[in-house]
Amino acid sequence: MRLILLGPPGAGKGTQAKVLMAAHDIPQLSTGDMLRAAVKAETPVGLKAKDIMARGDLVPDAVVNQIVADRIDMADCARGFILDGFPRTVAQAEALDSLLAERGLALDAVVELQVDEEALAARVENRAAESGGEVRADDTVEALRHRLKVYREQTAPLIDHYRATGKLVSVDGMQAIDDVSAQIADILASEGSQAQVAG
Ligand code: AMP
Repeated sequence: MRLILLGPPGAGKGTQAKVLMAAHDIPQLSTGDMLRAAVKAETPVGLKAKDIMARGDLVPDAVVNQIVADRIDMADCARGFILDGFPRTVAQAEALDSLLAERGLALDAVVELQVDEEALAARVENRAAESGGEVRADDTVEALRHRLKVYREQTAPLIDHYRATGKLVSVDGMQAIDDVSAQIADILASEGSQAQVAG
């Protein structure tokens, strides 16, 4: 199963990716996690990405496209994967389309988590308060507001890109975590049975 989780920062993509990973025994490919690991290890990619990420801007397409291309070719992705935080621009989506086509692979679904942006800002404020200030460099209200703006301008257009492929499914991400997971599971199960009927 090959899935994309789409939605603004804080929508719960990572949480749902972990549920799906356990249910389907396929890896979660989070470009954010991979980039944070690169920043921590001070690799050339990490050094390039560090300040961009702290501001809440997007790392250049060529950098993330290469990270994903390398990761998808690893053995644990043979049965599928869950993309969490990639693609984030139309250029990345087009790069992914070619990457998959070159390998004779197709996406099963693009799951959009729909959320209320004001509620997201409140969640991040709570997280900052609970942790006593020990948060990710980009996990502040200011950085979140910027990341939401970047999402609206650069990532939200992907909703139309994937709607046109017929692969887009939208879920209310403001529900309780378990309810969101259950709804995604139902959708994937019914898509799977439709695909079987279709042959
Ligand atoms: P995330 O953990 O997915 O919210 O990503 C954290 C940060 O990593 C983002 O705000 C970007 O700076 C960077 N990043 C993650 N994924 C991508 C991507 N697909 N394209 C560009 N930048 C990304």
